[in-house]
Amino acid sequence: MTDASKSAAGRSFFVADLHLTDERPAATGRFFRFLQEQAAGADALYILGDLFEAWVGDDHDEQVAHETARRLKSLAESGTPVYFMHGNRDFMLAERYAAQSGMTLLADPARIDLYGVPTLLMHGDTLCTDDTAYQTFRRRVRHPLTLALLKRLPMALRRLLAQQARSGSESAKTGKSAEIMDASAAEVVRMLREHQANRLIHGHTHRPARHIHAVDGRDCERWVLPDWYLNWGYVMCDDSGCTLRTEAI
Ligand code: MN
Repeated sequence: MTDASKSAAGRSFFVADLHLTDERPAATGRFFRFLQEQAAGADALYILGDLFEAWVGDDHDEQVAHETARRLKSLAESGTPVYFMHGNRDFMLAERYAAQSGMTLLADPARIDLYGVPTLLMHGDTLCTDDTAYQTFRRRVRHPLTLALLKRLPMALRRLLAQQARSGSESAKTGKSAEIMDASAAEVVRMLREHQANRLIHGHTHRPARHIHAVDGRDCERWVLPDWYLNWGYVMCDDSGCTLRTEAI
């Protein structure tokens, strides 16, 4: 056993919003180093959505997709289970790519027992309930019928639609306040109560932080994961709790 794997045992790592693309090789390189230096030997790696900047189907042909699959597969085969939850950018990632990468697909939300603490995992976009326009868009595009139709379109058309969705979301964001695009505290409390969890870990908002929410007299923690644009980082949990680490790429 190497020193790295020895120190990572008893720990689980959580990342989201890496937005990997061939156009940002520094973030990709940082992620691969993270896999080697932090995640190797850990109890589990949870990727909570938006691993990729865009994903138009498991025939996605960016170099970063192939290389990421290879690296994740080798992590999984070395004994660290890798879990993946869809984000709003890569919700079309399916069983074929998950199998190539050795990843287990998780539903959103997923409730896990994390060293004795009932913990809810989410991507985070469904927490932004004040953004009603986005929630309507999400319901439409994530509908099983829409997904079935999308999967049958030629790659070039799927790419074009994804590009349009991204530019549409960019222009919509400029007209929305920061509060509207953040997680709604009421929705956070509702989810923690409904799933009887004491802790929530999510990404999507790109506002890394630790928050405390009172739920029926219990203090619950909410950890928000950082994105991997100018900075990178993760939340690490062990039997003494969680910590957030973020630093410049
Ligand atoms: Mn997202």
